[in-house]
Amino acid sequence: MNESSTIFDVIILGSGPSGLTAALYTSRAFLNTLVIAGNPPGGQLTITTRVENFPGFPEGVLGTEFISNTRKQVKNNGAKLIDENVLKISGSFEDNFTVETDAGNIYKTRTIIIATGSSAKWLGLESEKKFIGKGVCACATCDGFFYKHRVVAVVGGGDSAMEESTFLTRFATKVYVIVRKGKKDLRASKYMQKKAFDDPKIEFIFNSVVKEVIGNDVVTGIKISTKNIKDGVEVEEESTLQVDGLFVAIGHEPNTKFLEGLVELDEKGYVKMFENHKTSKEGIFVSGDVHDHIYRQAISAAGYGCQAAIDVTRFLSDHGIETHVSSYE
Ligand code: NDP
Repeated sequence: MNESSTIFDVIILGSGPSGLTAALYTSRAFLNTLVIAGNPPGGQLTITTRVENFPGFPEGVLGTEFISNTRKQVKNNGAKLIDENVLKISGSFEDNFTVETDAGNIYKTRTIIIATGSSAKWLGLESEKKFIGKGVCACATCDGFFYKHRVVAVVGGGDSAMEESTFLTRFATKVYVIVRKGKKDLRASKYMQKKAFDDPKIEFIFNSVVKEVIGNDVVTGIKISTKNIKDGVEVEEESTLQVDGLFVAIGHEPNTKFLEGLVELDEKGYVKMFENHKTSKEGIFVSGDVHDHIYRQAISAAGYGCQAAIDVTRFLSDHGIETHVSSYE
C-alpha cells in the first residue's frame, strides 16, 4: 500500500457530471481536491452516444467528449484526478478519513463527496454488450431521438419500461415491449400500464425473453423466446423481431456496495441524503444518481454536484478550515 502524506480538503468519488461539477466548484473555492474517478472513469455518459439535452451544446455533444472536456476543465482549475476504484473508507471527520483504492493507494481527506452514480442493469448477453451504444441503450430520454421513424423494442415490465416505451413513441413508428411475465403479473403501476396499453404504437409481447441481439455494425433485430400454451401444454417458441434499437429498462442499481455499514442506505441501496447534501456520517456528503433515482439526468446530477460542493465548502468554513466561501455569498 502506498500512503500519501497529503491531507485533502475533499475527496470526490466518481467522475460523471455530478462528481466533476463538484470538483470544479471545490477546486475553485481553493479546496485541495482529489477526484477518485473510477476505472473505467466517466460513468453512464461514456456509454451513451450523443448528449443533446445539456444546455450549451446546440448540436449536442458526444458523451465521451463531454466527460473528457469537463475533466480538462476540472484539472485546469487545480483538482487532481486519478482513475482508480474505491475499495474502503474508514476514519471520521475529527480524525480524517482514509480512502483505500484498488490500485493499492491510500488517501487521507477531511471530507468526502460520494458521486458514484448508478448503473443500468443489463440482460447479461454477450451480443447485448457488443451493441451497447450501437443500438442497445439504457436511456430513452438520452437516445430516443436517434430512433425517429424507426422500430424499437423495450425490455422490462416495470414503470421504467412503461415510461421509456411511451416516451419512445414520440420518435419511433413502433415500439415492442418485451415482458418476461404475463399481462396479469406486469409489475408497472396501473396508471403507467394503461398509458402504454392505450398507445396504438405500442405492442406488448408477454412471457418472452430476449435471447440474442442481432446485427453487423448496428442492431437489426432481436431473437426472442416466448412461452405459449398449446393444447394445454407450455411450449417455448423462438422468433425474430426486426428492430433498429433495443432499450433495456430492467432497473438501475446504485453504486454503493462499498458504502455498506459506513453511511445509511435506503431499502433500494441508494444513499440517504439529509439537509445540505449530508449523509448520516459527519463529513461525508452525497450528490447525483447515487441518491437520486427520480430524475437521473446529466444536468440534474451536475446541479447536485454544484450544491454538494458549496455545502462542503461552507461545512469546512463553519469548522474553522480556511476557504474562500465568501465568493459564493
Ligand atoms: P423495477 O424493478 O420496478 O422493474 C424491473 C422490471 O424489469 C420488472 O418487470 C422485471 O421483471 C424486469 N426484469 C428484471 N430483470 C430482468 C431480466 N433479466 N430480463 C427481463 N426482465 C427483467 O424497475 P424500474 O426501473 O421499472 O422501477 C424502479 C422504481 O422506480 C420503481 O419503484 C418505479 O415505480 C420507479 N419509477 C417510477 C417512475 C414514475 O413514477 N414516473 C418511472 C420509472 C420508475 P419481473 O417483474 O419479472 O421481476
